[in-house]
Amino acid sequence: LPSEFDLIERYFNWQQPAKGVAQGVGDDAAILNIPNNQQLVVTTDTLISGVHFPEQTPAHAIGHKSLAVNLSDLAAMGADPAWFTLALTLPEQNPQWLNEFSAGLRSLAEKANIQLVGGDTTKGALSISITAMGLATAQNILLRSTAKDGDLIYVTGTLGDAAAGLAVIQNKLRLNHAEYCIERLNYPQSRHHESSYIRQYATACLDISDGLLADLNHILKASGVGACLDLDSIPLSPALSSLQKEQALQYALNGGDDYELLFTIPADQQQAFEQEVSRRVLVCHAIGKIDESFSGITSSQGRVLVPQGYLHF
Ligand code: ADP
Ligand code: MG
Repeated sequence: LPSEFDLIERYFNWQQPAKGVAQGVGDDAAILNIPNNQQLVVTTDTLISGVHFPEQTPAHAIGHKSLAVNLSDLAAMGADPAWFTLALTLPEQNPQWLNEFSAGLRSLAEKANIQLVGGDTTKGALSISITAMGLATAQNILLRSTAKDGDLIYVTGTLGDAAAGLAVIQNKLRLNHAEYCIERLNYPQSRHHESSYIRQYATACLDISDGLLADLNHILKASGVGACLDLDSIPLSPALSSLQKEQALQYALNGGDDYELLFTIPADQQQAFEQEVSRRVLVCHAIGKIDESFSGITSSQGRVLVPQGYLHF
């Protein structure tokens, strides 16, 4: 078996056009140059086998997803992907697994133009921890705490697919388009491209990882406002639309792992934003409104919506 150093060299030292990398993989630490007029945005996410993905998940998908969930956080902040580090804990050295994991990771890294600049490799139960770094100009940064009364609430893509995919894998749900939902679970599409347009208009933003209601609540609490949601406007894929309405809504409102962006647009910017959306072929939908006179989340039919998102503790 190759040594730890061969393993790093073989699977985690690919060359990519370097932006601002003075030292990448190979020394005790990486050295990165931050452009003068930009801020460094840093996020970490850990994926543990059996907790954040089912144990039988293909290695290629695990490689993709480990990076995608971090890219999603950068997109939510309005930052462009730049660099990442990878702390990998492996139960064994399995060349086929490493090959596929590395290919899944690399393919997304190249697409997103983010470079692997270092990491750590240890033995133990399978866990992948990525720290992603992005660059942003101060006026483009998107926070949770800055939604305003009257703003429209938008989401990218469709909601609930990944949670339905997980339910299928766990034999809790039978579905016509099961493959599509499992793909959405295993290969979340981080919205870094969409973010570059959204951040020109949005007042607040986050990515939906724990369910629409739970994550919308984070924006509401941080901004000190309430919201009214139009449940008929929640975007559903054909797969979820084939379920009964209430069941589909349950996945869309409370299901985790969507990695879509949830953001707010001032009413007087809506027209300009919608024009941008149609020019760029961005998929996003208005689903409600920020309303100071509410606390928490209410549906336009007057239903009080309480988050049942996934909590680790
Ligand atoms: P040290 O013992 O000095 O921390 P390591 O053996 O952990 O050195 O790492 C050697 C080099 O390989 C460092 O540049 C480190 O960032 C990089 N590295 C280690 N593991 C990984 C990994 N899984 N992916 C990418 N780079 C890695
Ligand atoms: Mg080390």
